Amino acid sequence: TRRKLIAGNWKMNGLKADGIALAKGIADKLASASPDCDLLVCPPFTLIAPVADAVAGSRLAVGGQDCHAKTSGAHTGDTSPAMLADLGCKYAIVGHSERRTDHAETDSVVKAKAAAALAAGLVAIVCIGETLAQRDAGQTIEVNRSQINGSLPEGANAANTVIAYEPVWAIGTGRVATPAQAQEVHAAIRAELVKLIGAAEAGKMRILYGGSMKPDNARELLALPDVDGGLIGGAALKVADFWAIAESC
Ligand code: 13P
Repeated sequence: TRRKLIAGNWKMNGLKADGIALAKGIADKLASASPDCDLLVCPPFTLIAPVADAVAGSRLAVGGQDCHAKTSGAHTGDTSPAMLADLGCKYAIVGHSERRTDHAETDSVVKAKAAAALAAGLVAIVCIGETLAQRDAGQTIEVNRSQINGSLPEGANAANTVIAYEPVWAIGTGRVATPAQAQEVHAAIRAELVKLIGAAEAGKMRILYGGSMKPDNARELLALPDVDGGLIGGAALKVADFWAIAESC
């Protein structure tokens, strides 16, 4: 059975005091309770060092929201996976739809970033998901299949890679996928993974759902057979909400 992962993507939110308080609040709860999942927070780059220091020694993992495909060099404003690992990060999100849109990241860029994350010893969280126009055109399964084919790095396995299915129309909209919609796509992604990495690894690889996951809808989504956790935006910015989702596992 796959151990669930509840990951908070803080996006571009929080100053130092906010981020430290949020991370410490979660780590403090983890010190006295053990929800049936792994917990991860992905702060903005500016907060990774103070957050990693604040939760050092706890069971709360820290990750980046993106990384560059190279280890170092002339790439102004970018952050390499080695730099994330150096601060204590265990994970890097790659290919979030906001990166694909705001920074024109293609599948091949996402694949290169994921490969670099693996090479640095990080777990890559590879994000995919269809837009509303694609869903309305009946292209949901085809789009997600194509993105997984184009974004999954060589050498991906269940230990070093997590998939996040985030329907773009559900992100930040309050419009969550129904359980049937989520399960249909998660199962299709797993079937595609079987072709790409074989049944054994595909059966172990975690596929997270993201998009308006909240305490009041988490339990039914997390109970679905192919939903192995959540990638949480808005509800990850409050200790009580994030913790309630963790306790829904
Ligand atoms: P929301 O939970 O705010 O919809 O964001 C989801 C997301 O994009 C996580 O990466």
